[in-house]
Amino acid sequence: MGSMSTGQPVTTTAKHARYRGRFAPSPSGPLHFGSLVTALGSYLQARCQQGEWLLRMEDIDPPREQAGAADAILHALEAYHLYWDGTVLYQSTRHEAYEAALTQLTENHYSFFCSCSRKSIAASGGGHIYPGTCRDGLPPGGIPRIVRVRVPNRHDAFTDALQGQVKSNLQTDSGDFVVRRADGLYAYHLAVVVDDAWQGITDIVRGTDLLGATPPQRYLQQCLGYPHPQYTHLPLAVNQQGQKLSKQNLATAIDTLHPGATLNKALAFLGHPPPAELQGAGPALLLSWATAHWNLQNVPRTASVCVDDRCD
Ligand code: GLU
Repeated sequence: MGSMSTGQPVTTTAKHARYRGRFAPSPSGPLHFGSLVTALGSYLQARCQQGEWLLRMEDIDPPREQAGAADAILHALEAYHLYWDGTVLYQSTRHEAYEAALTQLTENHYSFFCSCSRKSIAASGGGHIYPGTCRDGLPPGGIPRIVRVRVPNRHDAFTDALQGQVKSNLQTDSGDFVVRRADGLYAYHLAVVVDDAWQGITDIVRGTDLLGATPPQRYLQQCLGYPHPQYTHLPLAVNQQGQKLSKQNLATAIDTLHPGATLNKALAFLGHPPPAELQGAGPALLLSWATAHWNLQNVPRTASVCVDDRCD
């Protein structure tokens, strides 16, 4: 591992030969069925290869956080026997490393200051795509509120282990993206990329809601000289309206007193329904069965799966 004080990434060495995955929840609410599925899929993908599975708490956005959520998530993971390796990395302790990465981006001319508000971007007619207004300097009187990464106008592609080839053109898909927000907070893309590299993550398993985040994150890895991890985007658990289960649509916290039934359901969701004799089993037995039988080939290759009983 790189040293804690400098936040230096782990370079591509023999250490990378070993699988190292992670689960990286944001403490914006308790663990619900959708986030359990992501935790479970990333856990099984790591454990079936005798890999490591780390836990990172993405607490860099205080306005979106809920008091007690971080501890509730850890408690729920333990109740489901989803035990992680090492200590939990809290992103709130990593500001120095994010600042160092911002400096590196600025010094290498990958980033620029921007004075645009969301409103002015929307008014430019391109929807949420940044039109490049401040790319070559702030307009007269413009206040440097935001830091953005300048993206190339070129086609790119990567292969996702489940979703196949994902094509993108950063300029037309997202435009120059934010790495430091107007409120001074570090943007998700920056923190995720810096920490995945620093923690030596070889494989990222997460929901398809973050599929669109992958091309900008891969570009950032390139700008910062980090290796690209392998990506696997799991189908997202959605309700009857096709919405991701989240705090916003009141997805309920998972039952931590009787984890067996919910774990059974989460395994079935991921294409691994446990055999009848494991009905009523607890998490230890279910997870050891699942680790032995896990096969990515059996996971649905769709963007989402409805978990609302009324979907049938
Ligand atoms: N913290 C992000 C979320 O909860 C996930 C980050 C990631 O897996 O890359 O949506």
